[in-house]
Amino acid sequence: MTLNRRRPTPENASLRFLVEDLLDVVDAPESAIRAMQQEAATVLLPGATQALSRQQRRLIALPPAEFQELRRFLLDQLRSVALPQMLPPGIERIHDVKLRLNLQLRANAGPGGVPIVDGSVRDVLWFYVAHLVSRAGTSKLTLCPAPRSQREAAADAAFCGRLFVRRGTAKEFCSPTCRARVATQRARHKGATASVRPKRPIANAHRKGGHK
Ligand SMILES: [Zn+2]
Repeated sequence: MTLNRRRPTPENASLRFLVEDLLDVVDAPESAIRAMQQEAATVLLPGATQALSRQQRRLIALPPAEFQELRRFLLDQLRSVALPQMLPPGIERIHDVKLRLNLQLRANAGPGGVPIVDGSVRDVLWFYVAHLVSRAGTSKLTLCPAPRSQREAAADAAFCGRLFVRRGTAKEFCSPTCRARVATQRARHKGATASVRPKRPIANAHRKGGHK
């Protein structure tokens, strides 16, 4: 029974792949995009143990540019799924999703009890993504509340706003970078308001050509 040993990817791992890999859309070499297509097909779409399903093959066969477009489309959709009450002030971009899907559903369930649907590549992928997100719970998705650095904030929004998967109930940030920035800003803020005696003198310390 070696063929059946491959277990379906656990829900949380699939959700993390979806949000943190697939929807982290960046320009990449074609080979990297192709690899992402392959992974998206096997992680998010139902397939057989021995061979790829029709749905998986069609996603893999998509031209890379169209696949990138599909990723951006999915990101927009899921940003609107993240709960509005959990958003930091200043982050908008929340809109009602009204999406008409054209799918055919087969009566018999596929592997793992997942329904088998057919339709356009976009609609099929969106169906399984929505299925995954509703099983995992939309409360797991949120947008990063970390303020941006001043330079970034001047160029764009004041907050990071990146979609990420929450782990546990603590207030969290999308990346170690955002967490570190928040910690630094808090420490600086505390230093400015509470500390009478700074740890090192700030004045003149970094001034070039100061007194010798
Ligand atoms: Zn962030």
